[in-house]
Amino acid sequence: MERKEEVIETIDIPVAERKYLKETNPKFKEKFFFIIPLLILLFFVSGLRFSRNSKTNPLKNINFNNANNHDHSILGHLPYNEISKEKLVLIEPNIEVHIDMSESLLQMKEDAKNEGIFLVFLSGYRSINLQNNIFYTLKSKRNQIASERARVSAPPGYSEHSTGFAIDIGDSNKRDTDFDVKFENTDAFRWLKKNAAKYHFKLSFNKNNKNVDYEPWHWRYEGSIDALKVFEASNRNINNAK
Ligand SMILES: [Zn+2]
Repeated sequence: MERKEEVIETIDIPVAERKYLKETNPKFKEKFFFIIPLLILLFFVSGLRFSRNSKTNPLKNINFNNANNHDHSILGHLPYNEISKEKLVLIEPNIEVHIDMSESLLQMKEDAKNEGIFLVFLSGYRSINLQNNIFYTLKSKRNQIASERARVSAPPGYSEHSTGFAIDIGDSNKRDTDFDVKFENTDAFRWLKKNAAKYHFKLSFNKNNKNVDYEPWHWRYEGSIDALKVFEASNRNINNAK
């Protein structure tokens, strides 16, 4: 018995010590091997998130800009497709307009005349090519930068005139006010302001427009589904701006 105890004692002590070392080491190693990949994984994930964030910030900016610019406008002008030639009618020499609005426009002119107001049609449909010349030639001639030019003329592809639904109107008795803000002081303008809506015409660029100068002579037709579709984005913008 004594010998057994002795043996146990002598064996136990080093074994216990060794066990202590042997058992803690693997545990530590196990933890170590568990923690290291976890740390690497955490580092990798946080690194990925950081790089993703740094990438999404400019993306967010782009989205923010897009949210403001969801209509794809350029310098305050919305894009418009050119109307197909079959839908255009010549109502006067050099004045072509969309067939949908021709009757209403001529009726408006006739009714104004009956009230002693003489409207003159200055410009109706303009092709994108013509708009291209107007925009770039005049911009260059007048030594203007694009944003300055865009205040008074739409860039090609962005003019309501390309749709056939826009008409520039003057006063037959005040031709010096053609394409001029002074047109708002004419009888023709006063009559239009009072009556144009009856014929489904409205001013496109009023005094509240931030990017495009006030154009009292420029009216657009909104009396058909096609016309309303064409100007839907523009009207949505105006409503959002209110
Ligand atoms: Zn115009």
